[in-house]
Parts: sequence; C-alpha cells; structure tokens
Amino acid sequence: MKKIAVLTSGGDAPGMNAAVRAVVRKAAYHGIEVVGVKYGYEGLTNGQFEELDLGSVGSLIQRGGTFLNSARFPEFKEDAVQQKALDNLQAAGIEGLVVIGGDGSYRGAMTLVAKGFPVVGIPGTIDNDVPGTEYTIGFDTALNTVVEAIDKIRDTATSHENSFVVEVMGRDAGDLALWAGLAAGAETVLIPEEAYDLDDIVERLERGAARGKKHSIIIVAEGVMPGHKIAELLEAKTGKKTRVSVLGHMQRGGSPTARDRVLASQFGAYAVELLMEGKAGRAVGVRNHQVIDYDMPEAFQKNHEADMSLYTLMKELSI
Ligand code: ADP
Repeated sequence: MKKIAVLTSGGDAPGMNAAVRAVVRKAAYHGIEVVGVKYGYEGLTNGQFEELDLGSVGSLIQRGGTFLNSARFPEFKEDAVQQKALDNLQAAGIEGLVVIGGDGSYRGAMTLVAKGFPVVGIPGTIDNDVPGTEYTIGFDTALNTVVEAIDKIRDTATSHENSFVVEVMGRDAGDLALWAGLAAGAETVLIPEEAYDLDDIVERLERGAARGKKHSIIIVAEGVMPGHKIAELLEAKTGKKTRVSVLGHMQRGGSPTARDRVLASQFGAYAVELLMEGKAGRAVGVRNHQVIDYDMPEAFQKNHEADMSLYTLMKELSI
C-alpha cells in the first residue's frame, strides 16, 4: 500500500484533528503517503484533495474542530455520485480511505466498500452514539465542557436560589446528559432513552426544597424537548420561576481533552494498520480499554444503547 486518504464527515467533534494527525504520522512511519480530503464526501466527489505530510499536521493535536472541514452531503446516497468519488480516488492512486465521523458517515463509507474500495471508519462525534464502541472521539471533551458550564450555572443558581433547566446536545442519545448529570450532581436528567414523569420531577424538587436545598439543576437532552418547554411545564406545576440555559454549539468546540487525544491517536494508528492488513469495511472502537475493530454495518444496523446503570445511579444519588 503506497497511498491512502482521510476525511472527516458529519458533525465535527474535538479530537478529529488529533485522529487525522495520527493517520498521517502512522502512515508516514510505514512509508505510506496520505491525502487529506476536504469537506467530507462532498470534497471526495469534487476531488478536493491535498497532500498531507508530517509538517501539515504539526500543532494540530490540541485544536478543536477539523482542519479538513466537514459537510453534510445527502447527494452521496446516489450511485452516480459515489462512482464519481471512486473515480477520483482511483485517478489519484489512492488505495484505501479512513472516514472519521458518525454512523451516517459509515453508511456512506459502506457504499464505497460495496464497490470494492477499502474503507475503515473511526467514530468521531460528541454524542457517543456509535454502536459497537464504548466511546467516540469528542465525547469526553464535550462532557467536560458541559460540566464546566453547569458548575458555573450552579454558582449563580445557589446565589439566587433558582431552579435551572440546562439543555444539552443529544437528539437520540442521552449519554452527554447522563454523564454530565452524574459529574455535575444534577437533581434530574431527562434523556431520550427513558420516559420522564413530570410529577416525579416535581416531587423530587419539592423534597429537595423541604430539605433546605437552595437550588436545583435539571438537565434535558435536546431530543426529549426544548429546555424552555420543560421549564414552562415545571413552572406551571410548582408556581416557581425556572430559568433556562441552552448550551448549544459551544459543546462542539474547544481543545480536545487528553483522553480524547489519546483515543484519537490510538484510533488513527489502528485504522492505518487495518488498511495495511487489507481489511475493509471495518470500524475501529474501544471496549474494556482495548482498541478493537468490527464490521462497520453493525454501527448503523444496531441502535445505540446508553448505559442505563448510570441512570439508576443518578436517581439514587440525587434523592
Ligand atoms: P454522522 O456521520 O455524524 O452520523 P450524517 O448522518 O449527517 O452524520 O452523515 C454524514 C454524511 O454521510 C452525509 O452528509 C452523507 O454525505 C453521508 N451519508 C449518510 N448516510 C448515507 C447513506 N445512506 N448513503 C450514502 N451516504 C450517506
């Protein structure tokens, strides 16, 4: 294998740069050239390629976002578009591709595998919602961002004796809300995986108030309902003002944590090894602290499952 390519696709996540850096450096270590594809599958289709050498990935390990840019490109579902991308790869002498993204990006990758082109996937998304791996690149950074924000909100909530609803990202996956709830000591967490009971939330709030609690933090994953909506429902029940903070896109940015950088480095290097071994259609992941690989379609044929033992623990600790 002489030349491979790498792209980032779907929602960006901190640590994607560190993963690209690892791909480039591991490949260079084995004498393999690397081409960076700009703008995900859109750039792949338009031939937006640039040679990456050791220097081009210097000072990148600590940078958030993705210097290769990302794009949503629904056109990639069309056969003729996939064929154009394949022609571009072959014309450039590229023999394998590393795709860094979520399960949607893996679906795109498998269309190329089905046409005989070797692709390996690396999970990169702050949602931690790629089945088959316990962690995705970016989750730890986003989690720390959320916890830092909630700690700050808690300071002002305590001073004014307010209740706060904090809306965090997570359309279908509650991992970010769940982990942040535990780490920040929230009173209640609402996640898409578990039906909520408004009366139960109100009861918990009232129990806390009776105990002399000065404030409460309720975390809601955006997929459950907008933060202001749950605040309205709670106000109607309790008669007390409930403030809302929507964290929004700040959760996607920032310098990756050490943990995300290490994971990205391990994933990037392992993806290159898989391509060198001639393996295609495999996704990289981590299970029980071991870097592993598995059939990429497993990631989109199965549903993501949050660790519900954390939900139980959260309820027990926030009585
Ligand atoms: P993520 O990778 O974060 O899940 P998306 O679901 O937006 O993000 O997918 C990223 C990109 O992958 C899409 O914009 C599209 O280019 C490509 N893609 C997604 N689903 C398919 C599919 N079924 N066939 C081909 N390409 C796809």
